[in-house]
Amino acid sequence: MFNFDYYNPTRILFGGERIADVGKHIPEDARVLITYGGGSAKKYGTLEEVKKALAPRDVLEFGGIEANPRLDTLLGAARLAKEKQVDFLLAVGGGSVIDGTKFIAAAAHYSGDAWKMWTDKLSPERVLPLGCVLTLPATGSEMNATAVVSNPARAAKVGYKHPSLFPRFAVLDPHKSFTLPPRQIANGVVDAFVHVTEQYLTYPVYGKVQDRFAEGLLLTLVEEGPLTLTEPENYDARASVMWAATLALNGLIGAGVPQDWATHRIGHQLTALYNLDHAQTLAVLLPSVLQVQKADKQLKLAQFAERVWGIRDGNEEQKAQAAIGKTRDFFEDMGLKTRLSAYGIAEDAIDKVLDNLERLGVLPLGERGDIDKTAARRILSMSY
Ligand code: NAP
Ligand code: FE
Repeated sequence: MFNFDYYNPTRILFGGERIADVGKHIPEDARVLITYGGGSAKKYGTLEEVKKALAPRDVLEFGGIEANPRLDTLLGAARLAKEKQVDFLLAVGGGSVIDGTKFIAAAAHYSGDAWKMWTDKLSPERVLPLGCVLTLPATGSEMNATAVVSNPARAAKVGYKHPSLFPRFAVLDPHKSFTLPPRQIANGVVDAFVHVTEQYLTYPVYGKVQDRFAEGLLLTLVEEGPLTLTEPENYDARASVMWAATLALNGLIGAGVPQDWATHRIGHQLTALYNLDHAQTLAVLLPSVLQVQKADKQLKLAQFAERVWGIRDGNEEQKAQAAIGKTRDFFEDMGLKTRLSAYGIAEDAIDKVLDNLERLGVLPLGERGDIDKTAARRILSMSY
């Protein structure tokens, strides 16, 4: 196991009726900016509940943060937060609203060009504290210090991480996910699944605890994920998926072990260029990443085959191959396509994505740093 620091300061308020408790974790005299997305928070009453819980504080609202939050929108919110001397940000929504709010927190009082800070990984200056009310289990953004922002003017989507961006608290009320449409339920399960594989399907370093945690989360997603589709009001299934998605990317399972992230980094550019949902890109790319990296990842893939998919027959190589097939089938069963061609994206996408990856300086990729442009091309070609 590698040496590691593990730090996670986010308080989790889990369960029914927990929105009522947000006021306990925000100073009484704080001026709060509530941020939300395209309207689901309003439509399903979550926004009203949040406002009630914040009374009698001075509250402002900023709605309209889009899926795959956009730089221009977020800069508008950051200006508002500065002008109105906001003290605390409260994000109500899924990963896009929470990520977007992290950007607002870092950008509001930044004296330079906030996009340059983001892309060049510069430290922020004064960061506004934030909390969140999660309505879509998927990204883990509610309990991590990472955020991804799109800049349509550059056709780019860029991630950023800074310890000042951990939410102070996150409300995880599984009831809030009952209103999700099937597409977003499936997206969430697949995103969480891929977060685990990015930290688990790597070369082995005797991370026994990490492996068992990862396998527990994967088994939970495989067993409970389909139930959230067929029984949308099954609280226990929703609760299991919500907590699994949070634990998948709160730093726990990735501490002390190698991490891959090639699927995510390539996927971000597919979203930036073709507007695919985040999880759609992952479902298309992960099977190809595993295929191209199969020899390197074979030991872990065979372990994954046995412990998650119950595959007992065959040699190590055959088990690894069968596990890749099972993973693809799972994504398809959840309702996601696993081929780029199924989205009608022409093969000239390969060069465009590769250009973006080069321009943004994210190559080489993978836990061994051996996914260069040639390997990335193979992965993209195989995704058709
Ligand atoms: P999302 O983009 O936040 O939301 C997707 C859609 O679901 C939106 O249209 C939203 O509508 C709707 N929605 C949310 N909650 C709902 C509810 N309870 N009922 C009905 N509809 C609801 O989806 P996401 O998958 O959570 O976030 C994706 C973003 O997170 C991507 O940009 C991805 O790159 C990023 N990401 C971040 C991390 C990280 O560590 N920070 C990790 C992985 C991915 P409204 O807009 O109307 O609310
Ligand atoms: Fe993700």
